[in-house]
Amino acid sequence: MEKGAISRDDILKTLQEYDELGAEAFLDLYDFKPGRKFPILHDGKEYDSKAVAAVAHKHSQGRPLTWGELSAGVGPAVGWLKREGFQVGVSRSPKWTRDELILACDVVAKNGWRALPSSDPRIAELSDLLQLLAAYPPEQRAAEYRNRNGAALKTVNIASFHPDYDGDPTNGGQLDREVLRDFLDRPAEMARAAELLREGLRSGDLQPVAQSDDGSFDDDVSVPEGRALYRRHRTRERNKGLRRKKIESVLKRGGALSCEACGFDFAKVYGKRGDGYIECHHVVPLHVAGEGTTKLADLALICSNCHRMIHRSAPWPTPAELRLLVLEQANDGEPGLPGPRAPMESADV
Ligand SMILES: [Zn+2]
Ligand SMILES: [Zn+2]
Repeated sequence: MEKGAISRDDILKTLQEYDELGAEAFLDLYDFKPGRKFPILHDGKEYDSKAVAAVAHKHSQGRPLTWGELSAGVGPAVGWLKREGFQVGVSRSPKWTRDELILACDVVAKNGWRALPSSDPRIAELSDLLQLLAAYPPEQRAAEYRNRNGAALKTVNIASFHPDYDGDPTNGGQLDREVLRDFLDRPAEMARAAELLREGLRSGDLQPVAQSDDGSFDDDVSVPEGRALYRRHRTRERNKGLRRKKIESVLKRGGALSCEACGFDFAKVYGKRGDGYIECHHVVPLHVAGEGTTKLADLALICSNCHRMIHRSAPWPTPAELRLLVLEQANDGEPGLPGPRAPMESADV
C-alpha cells in the first residue's frame, strides 16, 4: 500500500476517533507506543502524530499502517500532517523525568504533602531549577516549558497521590507515584538527594541530563536518586587518574588487583591481556556524595560483572554485601559465613 497518501479529511476522522477513545485506548487499539516529541496541535489539544498518521491510512487505503511500517521515526508522519495543513509542534508538557519529580516531590513533602499555588516563591524557585536541569533539549521545550503553572500543577498531582489525600487522584503518571513512594519509604535519603540536586544545579557541578529516546541511558541500572546524581557517580568512578592512584596504592600495600566482591583477577584469567585491569566502584551512596573530592578510600576494586550487579537494583549493595551474596549462592543458598552473620560494612568505609 502507498504510504503518505492521506487527506486532511482522513486525518480529521482519525482525530475524532482519537477523541472518542481517549489517547491510551487509541494507542492500544492500533498497537502504538506513545511518542510525545512532535504532537499534532489541534483545537487546543495534543495528539500523537505518528499514530494518527498511521491510522489515517485506513480511511482511503483500507487499513492502518503498523508501527513497523512507520519505523523511520516520526519524520515522515510529521511531513504528511504538515502537508495537509496541520500544526505539528513541541509538546507543551513533555513527560516529567525522575530528576524533575524528585525536585517537585521534595517541595510538596516540605509543605506537609500539600500542593502549592503558582504564586508561591517556592514554585518560582522550582521552576527555575527545572530550567537549569534542562531535562529536554532546547528544541523540545515550548515557551511554557516547566513554567510556574506547570510546576504548581505537578505539586497538585503529587499531593493527590498521597495516601492521606481525601479527594480523587488527579492525572499523573506511574513515575509520579513511584517517586512519591520512594519519598514515603526513604524520606531522609530522598530529601538529601533533592538537596544535592539543587546544590549541584545551582553551582553548575551537575550537568543537565537530557532525556533521550535512543536508549543512551543505561537501562540495566536502578537509580531512585535520579540520573544527574548517577552520572556524577559514574564520572567519578571512571576518572582515569583516580583509578590509577587507587591501583597503585593497593599494589604498594602488597594487595592484588582482584575483585573485592568475588575475588576475580583479570590477569589470572586473561593473562597479559587482563594484566592491570580492574574497575572502580564509588561506594558512597548517591544521596550522601556531595560535591567534595573523591578519596581513594571511597573507591572499591570490582570486576565488571560484580559492578553491573551492584548497580542493577537499588539500594546498591556494598562490595562486602555482594560478597556475602556470592558466598551464599556458592553455598547453595545457605549463609556463607560460619556463625552469626558478620555485620555489614558501612558504605563509606
Ligand atoms: Zn567480582
Ligand atoms: Zn559503581
